[in-house]
Amino acid sequence: MEYRLLGRTGLQLSAIGFGAAPLGGVYHPTSGAEACRAVRAAIDAGINFFDVAPYYGLTLAESRLGEALEGRRGEIILCSKCCRFGLDEFDFSARRVATSLEESLARLRTDHLDLFIAHDIEFGGLRQVVEETLPAMQRAREAGKVRYLGVSGYPLGVLAYAARQSPLDFVLSYCHDNLMNTRLQSELLPVARELGLGLINASPLHMGVLTEGGPPEWHPAPAAVLEAGRKVVEICRRHGTPVATAALRFALDEPGLSSVLVGMTSVEELETNLRALDYRLPPELLEAIGRAVAPVRDLEWASGREHPELPGRPPA
Ligand code: NAD
Repeated sequence: MEYRLLGRTGLQLSAIGFGAAPLGGVYHPTSGAEACRAVRAAIDAGINFFDVAPYYGLTLAESRLGEALEGRRGEIILCSKCCRFGLDEFDFSARRVATSLEESLARLRTDHLDLFIAHDIEFGGLRQVVEETLPAMQRAREAGKVRYLGVSGYPLGVLAYAARQSPLDFVLSYCHDNLMNTRLQSELLPVARELGLGLINASPLHMGVLTEGGPPEWHPAPAAVLEAGRKVVEICRRHGTPVATAALRFALDEPGLSSVLVGMTSVEELETNLRALDYRLPPELLEAIGRAVAPVRDLEWASGREHPELPGRPPA
Protein backbone atom coordinates (compact mmCIF):
# COMPACT_ATOMS: atom_id res chain seq x y z
CA MET A 1 0.00 0.00 0.00
CA GLU A 2 1.06 3.55 -0.68
CA TYR A 3 0.44 6.27 1.96
CA ARG A 4 -0.09 9.99 1.46
CA LEU A 5 -0.09 12.95 3.83
CA LEU A 6 -3.42 14.61 4.60
CA GLY A 7 -2.59 18.29 4.31
CA ARG A 8 -0.81 19.57 7.41
CA THR A 9 -2.34 17.01 9.80
CA GLY A 10 0.69 14.71 9.78
CA LEU A 11 -1.69 11.78 9.13
CA GLN A 12 -0.59 9.32 6.46
CA LEU A 13 -3.69 7.97 4.71
CA SER A 14 -3.65 4.88 2.53
CA ALA A 15 -3.89 5.95 -1.11
CA ILE A 16 -6.97 3.72 -1.39
CA GLY A 17 -9.50 4.53 1.33
CA PHE A 18 -12.47 2.33 2.29
CA GLY A 19 -15.81 4.07 1.71
CA ALA A 20 -18.42 2.50 3.96
CA ALA A 21 -21.56 4.04 2.41
CA PRO A 22 -22.40 0.78 0.58
CA LEU A 23 -22.24 -1.12 3.92
CA GLY A 24 -25.56 0.58 4.66
CA GLY A 25 -27.17 -1.07 1.61
CA VAL A 26 -27.15 2.26 -0.20
CA TYR A 27 -26.23 0.68 -3.55
CA HIS A 28 -27.58 -2.84 -3.23
CA PRO A 29 -28.48 -5.14 -0.35
CA THR A 30 -25.33 -6.21 1.45
CA SER A 31 -24.53 -8.91 3.98
CA GLY A 32 -23.21 -7.76 7.36
CA ALA A 33 -20.93 -10.81 7.58
CA GLU A 34 -19.39 -10.16 4.14
CA ALA A 35 -18.98 -6.46 4.96
CA CYS A 36 -17.12 -7.44 8.13
CA ARG A 37 -14.80 -9.75 6.16
CA ALA A 38 -14.14 -6.97 3.62
CA VAL A 39 -13.29 -4.42 6.34
CA ARG A 40 -10.88 -6.79 8.07
CA ALA A 41 -9.25 -7.93 4.82
CA ALA A 42 -8.81 -4.26 3.86
CA ILE A 43 -6.94 -3.54 7.10
CA ASP A 44 -4.79 -6.63 6.53
CA ALA A 45 -3.97 -5.25 3.05
CA GLY A 46 -2.79 -1.93 4.52
CA ILE A 47 -5.91 0.21 4.03
CA ASN A 48 -5.93 2.46 7.08
CA PHE A 49 -8.56 5.07 6.11
CA PHE A 50 -12.28 4.38 6.62
CA ASP A 51 -15.09 6.84 5.91
CA VAL A 52 -18.70 6.52 7.06
CA ALA A 53 -21.65 8.72 8.10
CA PRO A 54 -24.88 8.50 10.11
CA TYR A 55 -26.77 9.05 6.82
CA TYR A 56 -25.51 5.88 5.12
CA GLY A 57 -28.25 3.27 5.48
CA LEU A 58 -29.77 5.53 8.16
CA THR A 59 -27.12 4.49 10.74
CA LEU A 60 -26.72 0.89 9.48
CA ALA A 61 -23.30 1.56 7.89
CA GLU A 62 -21.91 3.02 11.12
CA SER A 63 -23.23 0.10 13.17
CA ARG A 64 -21.78 -2.47 10.77
CA LEU A 65 -18.44 -0.69 10.56
CA GLY A 66 -18.28 -0.42 14.37
CA GLU A 67 -18.87 -4.14 14.68
CA ALA A 68 -16.27 -4.98 12.02
CA LEU A 69 -13.68 -2.74 13.67
CA GLU A 70 -13.98 -4.48 17.05
CA GLY A 71 -10.38 -5.04 18.18
CA ARG A 72 -8.94 -3.22 15.13
CA ARG A 73 -9.92 0.40 15.83
CA GLY A 74 -6.37 1.38 16.85
CA GLU A 75 -5.00 0.39 13.43
CA ILE A 76 -7.02 2.85 11.39
CA ILE A 77 -7.91 6.48 10.71
CA LEU A 78 -11.66 6.73 11.20
CA CYS A 79 -13.83 9.43 9.65
CA SER A 80 -17.53 10.09 10.21
CA LYS A 81 -19.87 13.01 9.68
CA CYS A 82 -22.66 15.11 11.10
CA CYS A 83 -25.54 17.26 9.83
CA ARG A 84 -27.09 14.88 7.25
CA PHE A 85 -29.54 12.30 8.54
CA GLY A 86 -31.76 11.41 5.57
CA LEU A 87 -32.38 12.18 1.90
CA ASP A 88 -34.02 15.48 2.86
CA GLU A 89 -33.13 15.57 6.54
CA PHE A 90 -30.43 18.01 7.61
CA ASP A 91 -29.58 19.74 10.87
CA PHE A 92 -26.58 22.06 10.98
CA SER A 93 -27.25 23.32 14.52
CA ALA A 94 -24.55 23.24 17.20
CA ARG A 95 -26.75 21.15 19.47
CA ARG A 96 -27.26 18.45 16.85
CA VAL A 97 -23.54 18.39 16.00
CA ALA A 98 -22.84 17.45 19.64
CA THR A 99 -25.60 14.83 20.01
CA SER A 100 -24.95 13.30 16.60
CA LEU A 101 -21.26 12.89 17.41
CA GLU A 102 -22.08 11.02 20.63
CA GLU A 103 -24.44 8.72 18.71
CA SER A 104 -21.77 8.04 16.06
CA LEU A 105 -19.14 7.25 18.71
CA ALA A 106 -21.51 4.74 20.33
CA ARG A 107 -22.34 3.02 17.02
CA LEU A 108 -18.67 2.97 16.00
CA ARG A 109 -17.66 1.64 19.46
CA THR A 110 -14.93 4.22 19.95
CA ASP A 111 -14.20 7.26 22.12
CA HIS A 112 -12.99 9.53 19.31
CA LEU A 113 -13.02 10.13 15.55
CA ASP A 114 -9.82 10.97 13.70
CA LEU A 115 -11.67 12.99 11.06
CA PHE A 116 -15.03 14.73 11.48
CA ILE A 117 -16.97 16.17 8.56
CA ALA A 118 -19.91 18.54 8.12
CA HIS A 119 -21.77 16.41 5.56
CA ASP A 120 -23.08 17.86 2.27
CA ILE A 121 -22.88 21.49 3.32
CA GLU A 122 -24.55 22.73 0.11
CA PHE A 123 -27.84 21.75 1.77
CA GLY A 124 -27.23 24.13 4.68
CA GLY A 125 -27.06 27.89 4.89
CA LEU A 126 -23.37 28.66 4.45
CA ARG A 127 -23.42 31.34 7.14
CA GLN A 128 -24.77 28.81 9.63
CA VAL A 129 -22.16 26.26 8.55
CA VAL A 130 -19.33 28.76 9.07
CA GLU A 131 -20.66 30.53 12.16
CA GLU A 132 -22.38 27.71 14.06
CA THR A 133 -21.67 24.20 12.71
CA LEU A 134 -17.90 24.41 12.36
CA PRO A 135 -17.38 26.20 15.72
CA ALA A 136 -19.42 23.40 17.37
CA MET A 137 -17.15 20.87 15.66
CA GLN A 138 -14.13 22.85 17.00
CA ARG A 139 -15.50 22.49 20.51
CA ALA A 140 -15.71 18.71 20.00
CA ARG A 141 -12.07 18.82 18.98
CA GLU A 142 -11.14 20.81 22.10
CA ALA A 143 -12.95 18.15 24.16
CA GLY A 144 -10.73 15.46 22.58
CA LYS A 145 -13.60 13.72 20.78
CA VAL A 146 -12.33 14.39 17.25
CA ARG A 147 -8.89 15.22 15.88
CA TYR A 148 -9.28 16.98 12.50
CA LEU A 149 -12.13 18.82 10.82
CA GLY A 150 -13.46 18.94 7.28
CA VAL A 151 -16.47 19.53 5.07
CA SER A 152 -17.93 17.48 2.24
CA GLY A 153 -20.32 18.17 -0.59
CA TYR A 154 -20.79 18.15 -4.36
CA PRO A 155 -20.59 21.75 -5.72
CA LEU A 156 -16.90 22.67 -5.77
CA GLY A 157 -17.61 26.40 -5.34
CA VAL A 158 -19.35 25.71 -2.03
CA LEU A 159 -16.41 23.62 -0.78
CA ALA A 160 -13.91 26.31 -1.83
CA TYR A 161 -15.98 28.96 -0.06
CA ALA A 162 -16.13 26.98 3.20
CA ALA A 163 -12.39 26.27 2.98
CA ARG A 164 -11.63 30.00 2.73
CA GLN A 165 -14.02 31.02 5.49
CA SER A 166 -13.05 28.56 8.23
CA PRO A 167 -9.98 26.89 9.72
CA LEU A 168 -10.42 23.45 8.13
CA ASP A 169 -7.88 20.63 7.92
CA PHE A 170 -9.28 18.94 4.80
CA VAL A 171 -12.09 18.76 2.26
CA LEU A 172 -13.87 15.67 0.90
CA SER A 173 -15.15 16.01 -2.67
CA TYR A 174 -16.93 13.32 -4.69
CA CYS A 175 -17.54 12.51 -8.39
CA HIS A 176 -15.23 15.36 -9.39
CA ASP A 177 -11.96 13.61 -10.14
CA ASN A 178 -12.45 10.38 -12.04
CA LEU A 179 -12.76 9.14 -15.63
CA MET A 180 -16.03 11.09 -16.12
CA ASN A 181 -15.14 14.42 -14.51
CA THR A 182 -11.86 16.08 -13.50
CA ARG A 183 -13.08 19.54 -12.45
CA LEU A 184 -11.54 19.15 -9.00
CA GLN A 185 -8.12 19.65 -10.55
CA SER A 186 -8.90 23.18 -11.74
CA GLU A 187 -11.64 24.28 -9.33
CA LEU A 188 -10.61 22.98 -5.88
CA LEU A 189 -7.04 21.68 -5.91
CA PRO A 190 -5.50 25.18 -6.31
CA VAL A 191 -7.47 26.38 -3.26
CA ALA A 192 -6.46 23.33 -1.21
CA ARG A 193 -2.80 23.86 -2.16
CA GLU A 194 -2.94 27.56 -1.29
CA LEU A 195 -4.48 26.85 2.12
CA GLY A 196 -2.45 23.69 2.86
CA LEU A 197 -5.60 21.54 3.12
CA GLY A 198 -5.80 17.80 2.58
CA LEU A 199 -8.02 16.74 -0.31
CA ILE A 200 -9.94 13.46 -0.26
CA ASN A 201 -11.28 12.31 -3.62
CA ALA A 202 -14.37 10.12 -3.20
CA SER A 203 -16.31 8.04 -5.72
CA PRO A 204 -13.67 7.08 -8.30
CA LEU A 205 -16.34 4.77 -9.83
CA HIS A 206 -18.67 7.78 -10.20
CA MET A 207 -21.02 6.24 -7.61
CA GLY A 208 -21.36 2.90 -9.36
CA VAL A 209 -21.48 4.18 -12.98
CA LEU A 210 -18.08 2.63 -13.67
CA THR A 211 -18.97 -0.90 -12.52
CA GLU A 212 -20.25 -4.04 -14.23
CA GLY A 213 -23.43 -3.81 -12.14
CA GLY A 214 -24.05 -0.22 -13.26
CA PRO A 215 -25.35 2.74 -11.24
CA PRO A 216 -28.13 2.57 -8.64
CA GLU A 217 -31.59 3.80 -9.63
CA TRP A 218 -31.20 6.98 -7.59
CA HIS A 219 -28.07 8.11 -9.43
CA PRO A 220 -28.44 11.86 -10.08
CA ALA A 221 -26.32 12.12 -13.28
CA PRO A 222 -27.98 13.07 -16.59
CA ALA A 223 -28.90 10.07 -18.79
CA ALA A 224 -26.13 10.90 -21.28
CA VAL A 225 -23.51 10.47 -18.51
CA LEU A 226 -24.93 7.09 -17.56
CA GLU A 227 -24.90 6.06 -21.23
CA ALA A 228 -21.24 7.12 -21.61
CA GLY A 229 -20.47 5.15 -18.44
CA ARG A 230 -21.98 2.02 -20.01
CA LYS A 231 -19.68 2.53 -23.01
CA VAL A 232 -16.64 2.79 -20.71
CA VAL A 233 -17.64 -0.46 -18.98
CA GLU A 234 -17.94 -2.15 -22.39
CA ILE A 235 -14.56 -0.79 -23.58
CA CYS A 236 -12.84 -2.15 -20.45
CA ARG A 237 -14.60 -5.49 -20.81
CA ARG A 238 -13.35 -5.83 -24.40
CA HIS A 239 -9.88 -4.84 -23.24
CA GLY A 240 -9.95 -7.54 -20.55
CA THR A 241 -9.44 -5.07 -17.67
CA PRO A 242 -11.95 -4.77 -14.79
CA VAL A 243 -13.46 -1.31 -15.17
CA ALA A 244 -13.09 -0.70 -11.40
CA THR A 245 -9.34 -1.36 -11.59
CA ALA A 246 -8.91 1.03 -14.54
CA ALA A 247 -11.09 3.75 -13.00
CA LEU A 248 -9.39 3.54 -9.63
CA ARG A 249 -5.96 3.69 -11.24
CA PHE A 250 -6.98 6.82 -13.13
CA ALA A 251 -8.01 8.52 -9.88
CA LEU A 252 -4.83 7.39 -8.09
CA ASP A 253 -2.77 8.99 -10.86
CA GLU A 254 -4.44 12.40 -10.51
CA PRO A 255 -2.09 14.84 -8.74
CA GLY A 256 -2.55 16.44 -5.35
CA LEU A 257 -4.91 13.96 -3.69
CA SER A 258 -4.49 12.58 -0.17
CA SER A 259 -6.63 9.48 -0.64
CA VAL A 260 -9.04 8.00 -3.18
CA LEU A 261 -12.11 6.78 -1.35
CA VAL A 262 -13.90 3.85 -2.98
CA GLY A 263 -17.06 2.20 -1.64
CA MET A 264 -16.72 -1.55 -1.12
CA THR A 265 -18.95 -4.30 0.18
CA SER A 266 -17.07 -7.57 -0.39
CA VAL A 267 -13.63 -9.17 -0.36
CA GLU A 268 -14.02 -9.72 -4.11
CA GLU A 269 -14.48 -5.99 -4.77
CA LEU A 270 -11.61 -5.21 -2.44
CA GLU A 271 -9.27 -7.54 -4.32
CA THR A 272 -10.19 -6.07 -7.71
CA ASN A 273 -9.58 -2.60 -6.32
CA LEU A 274 -6.23 -3.49 -4.76
CA ARG A 275 -5.07 -4.59 -8.20
CA ALA A 276 -5.11 -0.92 -9.18
CA LEU A 277 -2.02 -0.38 -7.02
CA ASP A 278 0.26 -2.28 -9.42
CA TYR A 279 -1.67 -1.56 -12.59
CA ARG A 280 -0.64 0.92 -15.29
CA LEU A 281 -3.31 2.30 -17.63
CA PRO A 282 -2.38 1.47 -21.22
CA PRO A 283 -2.50 4.67 -23.34
CA GLU A 284 -4.74 3.03 -25.98
CA LEU A 285 -7.31 2.12 -23.30
CA LEU A 286 -7.22 5.63 -21.88
CA GLU A 287 -7.69 7.10 -25.35
CA ALA A 288 -10.67 4.85 -26.13
CA ILE A 289 -12.28 5.79 -22.81
CA GLY A 290 -11.54 9.47 -23.47
CA ARG A 291 -13.39 9.31 -26.82
CA ALA A 292 -16.44 7.67 -25.21
CA VAL A 293 -16.59 10.22 -22.40
CA ALA A 294 -15.75 13.35 -24.45
CA PRO A 295 -19.37 14.44 -25.16
CA VAL A 296 -20.26 14.45 -21.44
CA ARG A 297 -16.91 15.11 -19.76
CA ASP A 298 -17.26 17.32 -16.67
CA LEU A 299 -21.07 17.39 -16.93
CA GLU A 300 -22.64 18.00 -13.51
CA TRP A 301 -25.99 17.85 -11.77
CA ALA A 302 -27.63 20.23 -9.33
CA SER A 303 -27.17 19.61 -5.61
CA GLY A 304 -28.34 21.66 -2.64
CA ARG A 305 -29.76 25.15 -2.40
CA GLU A 306 -28.84 28.53 -3.85
CA HIS A 307 -26.05 30.34 -1.96
CA PRO A 308 -26.05 34.14 -2.22
CA GLU A 309 -22.72 34.17 -0.32
CA LEU A 310 -20.86 32.59 -3.23
CA PRO A 311 -18.70 34.92 -5.35
CA GLY A 312 -20.44 36.04 -8.52
CA ARG A 313 -23.95 35.37 -7.17
CA PRO A 314 -26.23 38.31 -6.37
CA PRO A 315 -27.81 38.27 -2.87
CA ALA A 316 -31.32 36.75 -2.98
P1 NAD B 1 -17.92 4.67 -5.67
O1 NAD B 1 -17.67 5.45 -6.89
O2 NAD B 1 -16.78 4.31 -4.80
O3 NAD B 1 -18.77 3.37 -6.08
C1 NAD B 1 -19.27 2.49 -5.13
C2 NAD B 1 -20.04 1.37 -5.82
O4 NAD B 1 -19.13 0.59 -6.59
C3 NAD B 1 -20.67 0.40 -4.82
O5 NAD B 1 -21.87 -0.12 -5.37
C4 NAD B 1 -19.64 -0.70 -4.72
O6 NAD B 1 -20.22 -1.92 -4.28
C5 NAD B 1 -19.17 -0.78 -6.16
N1 NAD B 1 -17.81 -1.32 -6.32
C6 NAD B 1 -16.68 -0.95 -5.67
N2 NAD B 1 -15.64 -1.69 -6.09
C7 NAD B 1 -16.11 -2.53 -7.04
C8 NAD B 1 -15.53 -3.53 -7.85
N3 NAD B 1 -14.25 -3.81 -7.76
N4 NAD B 1 -16.31 -4.20 -8.71
C9 NAD B 1 -17.63 -3.93 -8.81
N5 NAD B 1 -18.26 -3.00 -8.08
C10 NAD B 1 -17.51 -2.30 -7.19
O7 NAD B 1 -19.00 5.52 -4.82
P2 NAD B 1 -19.22 5.76 -3.26
O8 NAD B 1 -19.21 4.51 -2.47
O9 NAD B 1 -20.44 6.60 -3.15
O10 NAD B 1 -18.00 6.68 -2.85
C11 NAD B 1 -16.93 6.21 -2.05
C12 NAD B 1 -17.07 6.65 -0.60
O11 NAD B 1 -16.82 8.03 -0.48
C13 NAD B 1 -18.45 6.44 0.01
O12 NAD B 1 -18.65 5.10 0.41
C14 NAD B 1 -18.42 7.43 1.14
O13 NAD B 1 -17.66 6.89 2.22
C15 NAD B 1 -17.64 8.59 0.52
N6 NAD B 1 -18.53 9.61 -0.09
C16 NAD B 1 -18.83 10.73 0.62
C17 NAD B 1 -19.70 11.68 0.11
C18 NAD B 1 -20.03 12.90 0.92
O14 NAD B 1 -19.46 13.11 1.98
N7 NAD B 1 -20.94 13.73 0.47
C19 NAD B 1 -20.26 11.49 -1.16
C20 NAD B 1 -19.92 10.37 -1.89
C21 NAD B 1 -19.04 9.44 -1.35
